[in-house]
Amino acid sequence: MIGAVGIAFSCTDLAAFREIFSKASNIAILTGAGVSAESGVPTFRGAGGYWRKWQAQELATPEAFSRNPSRVWEFYHYRREVMLTKTPNPAHLAIAECEERLGRQGRGVAVITQNIDELHRRAGSKNILEIHGSLFKTRCTSCGHEAANHNSPICAALAGKGAPDPDSKDAQIPVQDLPRCEQAGCSGLLRPAVVWFGEALDSDIIIRAEKVLDNCDLCLVVGTSSVVYPAAMFAPQVAARGVPVAEFNMEDTPATMCFKFHFHGPCGTTLPAALSPHASEKH
Ligand SMILES: [Zn+2]
Repeated sequence: MIGAVGIAFSCTDLAAFREIFSKASNIAILTGAGVSAESGVPTFRGAGGYWRKWQAQELATPEAFSRNPSRVWEFYHYRREVMLTKTPNPAHLAIAECEERLGRQGRGVAVITQNIDELHRRAGSKNILEIHGSLFKTRCTSCGHEAANHNSPICAALAGKGAPDPDSKDAQIPVQDLPRCEQAGCSGLLRPAVVWFGEALDSDIIIRAEKVLDNCDLCLVVGTSSVVYPAAMFAPQVAARGVPVAEFNMEDTPATMCFKFHFHGPCGTTLPAALSPHASEKH
């Protein structure tokens, strides 16, 4: 039956997607940088993507942190503070609303995101796996304790620091004044609980993501491509099971890479239409 659907409809047929969507009981939604970009969240990658003189791949590494924890904390402090000025966009909201609505019908929606900005959470999504961690979580470099942290500023010494312009000077904050662990008797240096370049993904989260993908009967890839990391770790195995995969992004996906459906454009425009209540839904 799945094969017949693939033959019968083109990759951009929204009505065909909606038909499958209306019957899906477990939907996995992989989201990437494009969803955050539509809320104006900077990535510090690619053309113009600089904080001071650096791009993310030069600061978001364990080596950069051990060389200069003050500078790396300034970078993350800036990113946390920027998020106070950003809000979820219609794509985040459509995903959250869909989870809530389908939940009432006994159907499941799970978000697997590479984004670290918590905009899915703020939009109201509950079932979220953050495979690259969160800007608003810390991990102790001594005891390993992880904790949610939404303080602004995260510590007194970082107040007013982290200016992004290239002429800004390093604050050179003494390491004892950077964020420290509050577990009894620890006070180790905290780091952002995000996956840095060169670090492995949390195996626990990967196992949970794979379980979601093994159980899904529809997979959406939103604001990224199913052929690039990290969605490429997941989407092809879903497609290989014969499960429909629908991409919503700005990329030009080569025809040979077409995963059943591709909807081109800003996901804040394409996704609300795709996930709105279907005529067949019982409310
Ligand atoms: Zn600790």
